[in-house]
Order: sequence, then C-alpha cells, then structure tokens
Amino acid sequence: MVKALVLEEKGKLNIRDFPLTQTLGPADVRIGIRTVGVCGSDVHYYTHGKIGPFVVNEPMILGHEAAGVVLETGADVTHLKVGDRVCMEPGIPDPTSRASKLGIYNVDPSVSFWATPPVHGCLTPEVIHPAAFTYRLPDHVSFAEGAMVEPFAIGMQSALRARIQPGDIAVVTGAGPIGMMTALAALAGGCAKVFIADLAQPKLDIIGAYDGIETINIRQKSAAEVIAEATDGWGADVVFECSGAAPAILGLPALARPGGAVVLVGMPVDPVPMDIVGLQAKELRVETVFRYANIYDRAIALIAAGKVDLKPLISATLPFKDSIAAFDRAVEARETDVKIQIDMQGA
Ligand SMILES: [Zn+2]
Repeated sequence: MVKALVLEEKGKLNIRDFPLTQTLGPADVRIGIRTVGVCGSDVHYYTHGKIGPFVVNEPMILGHEAAGVVLETGADVTHLKVGDRVCMEPGIPDPTSRASKLGIYNVDPSVSFWATPPVHGCLTPEVIHPAAFTYRLPDHVSFAEGAMVEPFAIGMQSALRARIQPGDIAVVTGAGPIGMMTALAALAGGCAKVFIADLAQPKLDIIGAYDGIETINIRQKSAAEVIAEATDGWGADVVFECSGAAPAILGLPALARPGGAVVLVGMPVDPVPMDIVGLQAKELRVETVFRYANIYDRAIALIAAGKVDLKPLISATLPFKDSIAAFDRAVEARETDVKIQIDMQGA
C-alpha cells in the first residue's frame, strides 16, 4: 500500500492508502517524489472525469509534473545514481514502436502517460520509472523548477515546431500556463519580441513582467490591430494559438505575415471552424503540437543556464496533506494563479 492522491471518480478526491505494486526493472529507477505541479489536465479529470476518449472508470492516482530524488537504480542503469536530483518525462513510449524509431515517440499510439486513465500518476511518495525518461537536475535547479520542466517542454516543442529564426516577431494567443511557457520558449528560441494576448489583465501582468514580452488586453484592443501597428501591417512571423478558443482560432490568419507560421497548441474542447482561405491567401504553414519528444535535456539546459526563469510562474506551494485544497484552488482558476505545486515532503 502507498499513500496517494486518488481521483475516485469525477469530483471526488481522497488522500488514502492505495494498492500500487511497482517492481524495479533493470533499466528503471526508484524515485522519491519531492514536488508535483497541478496541471490543467489533472484538474479536468477531477471536474469532468474524462478528456476526450480517456475516461476515469476506476480510482486513479493524479499528477504528472514531477521532480524528486533517485532512491534506487536498476542493474543496467549507468547515467543515474542514488541521490541524484531528477525530473521525469511522464510519457513512456514503446521504444521499439514505429513512432519511437522515427523519433516522434510523443505520438506513439502505445505511449503510457502518467495520470491518463488507466495509468496512475505520481502524486505518491515513490514511483518506479524508466531511467531513459529520467533527467538529472543541476544542483542549482530546484525541485520546484524541475517540476516545471514538463509544462515548459510543451512550450519548447511549440517553439521547435515554429522553426523560429533569430529576430522573429511572435504572437501568442492565450495567457494560460501553456501560453506563458510558449512565450518564454519562443523568446529563448530567438524571437526578438513576443506579444501575448488575453482578456485577463492579471495573467498579462505576470507574463508581461518578463523582458521581451509585450501584452495585449483584447478587451481594449484586438490582437490583429496591435500586431498590424507593431509590424507596419506586415504581421507576425509566428503565431502560437494557446487559447483553444474558437474566435482566436478563426482570427489566426489576420495575425500572421505572408509566408509565416501558425502553431496550434491549445486544445479546443469541441471541433471549431478554421479560415482555410485566410490561411491559404498568405500561404501560412500550420503546425500542431502534442506533448513533446526529445525536449527535456534542452529545457533543463535553458533553465540551468539562466536563460529561462520559471520561478515567477509558481504561484503557490501546498503540502501533500493539503493536496485536495490545492486541486480545489486550481479549479477556482484564479487569474493571479499560474502554477500551483504540491510539496510531497510536507506530508
Ligand atoms: Zn501538465
């Protein structure tokens, strides 16, 4: 039995003993979990009991954004040792799959991902994980920052998909946690300036405090107007759609320059219309993003180099014993909250 934060069913969380048997294989490590971030997907399973085809049919441990300490290593593990501080990729693909062989293991149909039913997550004191998907954190990178690598990796994947060139101007629609991560990754990836548009001023204030980021409150002025003014009517080189909102998606072509790129990061709950001719008339390149592959090393390297500081995005840290309260606060979706984290040692 392990202590865990268990989603019993839609709307019902418990901290309780849970029968979870994990065996350490030769290529695995056992990790003591220290910090876990609360993610929108965890919250969505809590409030809705499902995301698309993934339905919570039986009790499931939540959590997939984690950092911790290596407690034990399998016989074949060479790059990690007991005591190493690490963060983990929550998705484990089949290494022999066709997608994995192509390097696109994020879209391996057989990937098993923490806290995606029926796979248990990491809001429990210890997990066993493949060493190949476990990454050492430099001494000066905290567990809290280590647990931010997962959401930041999505921003990094988005920046890579965009094929940013030095000096690009980017615009991000939607200043939720992923929009913010994407804006920071785009800056780190070489953009000269990143605009970010939202209607919640508190969110814009948080991300607008970073150098190189300009905010657009779309209650005051449309993003298209601001981008047109800022680029002499030419448009942004890259547009990152991070809101999932239908009007934003319909308005994408107006933000981009001719020959620019549109990266679809946000996930609309239902299918939404797209302005195909608007995209065609500028020959825009459309890219999509699903999770990430081969990103963690780069993300950790940027954080370790001080080129990306995610600490201002950690809004609150609650001890594990208060993790239900942490989730309930995340459900409130306060405009001043970006990331809420759970400290497992505060049990
Ligand atoms: Zn997440």
